[in-house]
Amino acid sequence: ETPLVEVKGLQKSFTIKKGWLGSDKYLRAVDGITFAIRKGETFSLVGESGCGKSTTGRLITRLLKPNGGEVWFNGQNITALNDHQMRPLRKDMQMVFQDPYASLNPRMKVKELVAEPLIIHTKLSTKERDQLAHELLETVGLSSFHAERYAHEFSGGQRQRIGIARALSVRPSLIVADEPVSALDVSIQSQVLNLLQDLQEEYGLTYLFISHDLSVVEHISDRIGVMYLGALVETADKDTLYERPLHPYTQALLSSVPVPDPSQKRERIILKGDLPSPVDPPSGCRFHTRCPSCMDICRQNVPVFREVEPGHQVACHLYDEEMMRNAR
Ligand code: SF4
Ligand code: MG
Repeated sequence: ETPLVEVKGLQKSFTIKKGWLGSDKYLRAVDGITFAIRKGETFSLVGESGCGKSTTGRLITRLLKPNGGEVWFNGQNITALNDHQMRPLRKDMQMVFQDPYASLNPRMKVKELVAEPLIIHTKLSTKERDQLAHELLETVGLSSFHAERYAHEFSGGQRQRIGIARALSVRPSLIVADEPVSALDVSIQSQVLNLLQDLQEEYGLTYLFISHDLSVVEHISDRIGVMYLGALVETADKDTLYERPLHPYTQALLSSVPVPDPSQKRERIILKGDLPSPVDPPSGCRFHTRCPSCMDICRQNVPVFREVEPGHQVACHLYDEEMMRNAR
């Protein structure tokens, strides 16, 4: 089956203006990444802040235009579409953001917030939109009673439910959720994650879930991609990634995820050094300045992102063919 989203060698750089004597520099926020999201699955992008995961979400939903590579949506190359051509597709891809405070207009009633995308994308009357807003509020675990109120009267978790109802209103096939629970208390986090999972089943939604935290995405994900400094370093299905992470960066991230059974505890890997600047990423493997397994070749040669077992891709010289052969 055609994946819902295909990202091929996607690139985005931002220009950083220097003073009148300096020359401009380029921040490569997303540096040639390739992955696909299957229909009905949750694909999570994970990595430290600044690794390019939010930019990737915005490139897919075309809030940003890429500098290189391609985005395919439902079998159609949408990379070169102009705003007018994108219009009918916009409804099909909605975003949920981290901070519901910032993304909801304080002067609008909740029912108006939820129904607002319907004004842009449908010809429904005010009455029909109201009706739908009430239904959507119940779908996300709020009630009609909340419809006439304002967002500031709600808790963080309730506001995120409003944000989700709003995204859902136009019946998208893809929801890009960028750190949707990061601002919430842990107990509220699991409620919102459960809601997202229920809605996925009910509406056949596909999710791109963006998070800096591997413990948050464990239950919701089908597959996971790990990003470091603008590059994808490993992708695998969820179980494989948690049980057999191959990339030293993934292994370090996982070592800090709490496990319920203390006998299964992973040894904590503390990464040395700071996260390098994406304006001036390290040569060769961009993780080499912090990698506990760094070899000579890593400082010079960029490791190729490739499949090492079915469905499991990694960019690391430890899994180069010669290395694998010698290990056998
Ligand atoms: Fe570490 Fe080398 Fe693998 Fe990069 S390529 S993650 S430096 S072992
Ligand atoms: Mg982000």
